[in-house]
Amino acid sequence: MNPLRPAILAAAGSSRMKRAITGFPVTAEVVHRFVAGESRADLAPVVAELLASGRMVSVDFLGEYTTERSMADDAVAEYLALIDELARWRRAAGLDRDSTARPRGAMRRHVDGEAAGPRPDGSGGGNRARQPGATTAGAAVDASRAEPGTPPRPAQSIAPVEVSVKLSALGQSLGLTGPEIAAANLRTLCERAQQAGVWITVDAEDHTTTETTESTVRALRPDYPWLAVATQTYLRRAEERCRIAAAEGARIRLCKGAYREPESVAYQRGADVDESYLRCLELLMAGSGYPMVATHDPVMITAAHDLSGRNGRAPGDFEFQMLYGIRSIEQRRLVEAGHAVRVYVPYGTQWYGYLMRRLAERPANLGFFLRALAERR
Ligand SMILES: Cc1cc2nc3c(=O)[nH]c(=O)nc-3n(C[C@H](O)[C@H](O)[C@H](O)COP(=O)(O)OP(=O)(O)OC[C@H]3O[C@@H](n4cnc5c(N)ncnc54)[C@H](O)[C@@H]3O)c2cc1C
Repeated sequence: MNPLRPAILAAAGSSRMKRAITGFPVTAEVVHRFVAGESRADLAPVVAELLASGRMVSVDFLGEYTTERSMADDAVAEYLALIDELARWRRAAGLDRDSTARPRGAMRRHVDGEAAGPRPDGSGGGNRARQPGATTAGAAVDASRAEPGTPPRPAQSIAPVEVSVKLSALGQSLGLTGPEIAAANLRTLCERAQQAGVWITVDAEDHTTTETTESTVRALRPDYPWLAVATQTYLRRAEERCRIAAAEGARIRLCKGAYREPESVAYQRGADVDESYLRCLELLMAGSGYPMVATHDPVMITAAHDLSGRNGRAPGDFEFQMLYGIRSIEQRRLVEAGHAVRVYVPYGTQWYGYLMRRLAERPANLGFFLRALAERR
């Protein structure tokens, strides 16, 4: 773990630091490495390029920290527009082959041995039926477009476009009724997403919100089985959460975690976080859900690959996820190897907190920022 991480995450909460950093002219250049732009217009070409390369996207709107009801309403309005645009961009990318591009049925995988017969979509059996997010061809990339020089495309039953949303943006922290407001807003987004064939994953925020976020998602899942939530492996309770998700057959994003958390709830040593990640991966890969392996770590990527094979999963039975601007070559390599790969693409004017979390993660990211500053002096 980056030794400067606690200091940078502390600075992320300082308004003086925010004014200083957002005021540096050079900051914009650095921001563009990690953020697609400030508006949907900036986002469009980025999404188009990613889809054309065979990668999928999960788009996050970086809005104001929501302190009033009207701000939550604004976030909902932006997300509704974003969902419509994503469906349009997906069509423009030629990824709407037929209605099966939408999530279908329950997000439930059968356990080993339970599902030997043909699937409802007419594909074969095998010892592990795939949930609606999976390909039928045994690879995440559709072979029908796999001629030389043609970009690969995601398997038809995986939704190639998704939004990532923070419940805090939807009003979760607006006093006692905040969780209810956020839940109602999330339902509004899910309804539109269902119609548009777009998926939603709810981001994991700091640990004080974890329980509420998970219960909000769990309450909506019967109606929207594709609705996913992120789980952070630095949390001591991560394994317990993964065990439940694996048994429920849920779609779940596994990440190490990006916030500053106390020792009482979170592992502090990088090695402990990594071991927790590996234990969670084992549970998820052996379970009946759809794991989304959100990491840039080569050790975790190799482990996910190995564990998926050992558990009889084809590449499209889980996906890799990475952040926009990080390890793009590796993203393309995984696509070429037939894996489903989704890139998390943030956009919006409120990029400061997101940028600070990226700088905190890795000395090299911070070095990139400081070098850019020095070169401009
Ligand atoms: C798709 C996605 C969604 C996420 N959602 C959430 C969320 O909802 N909540 C949350 O708290 N966090 C989220 N995160 C952030 C996550 O928790 C980590 O903070 C972040 O991904 C860094 O952890 P890591 O697994 O990449 O490994 P790290 O421990 O940061 O890095 C491990 C190794 O990965 C390689 N690596 C990392 N970065 C680079 C780089 N820039 N270039 C080359 N190699 C690199 C290096 O070999 C490094 O040693 C998300 C991350 C991703 C990818």
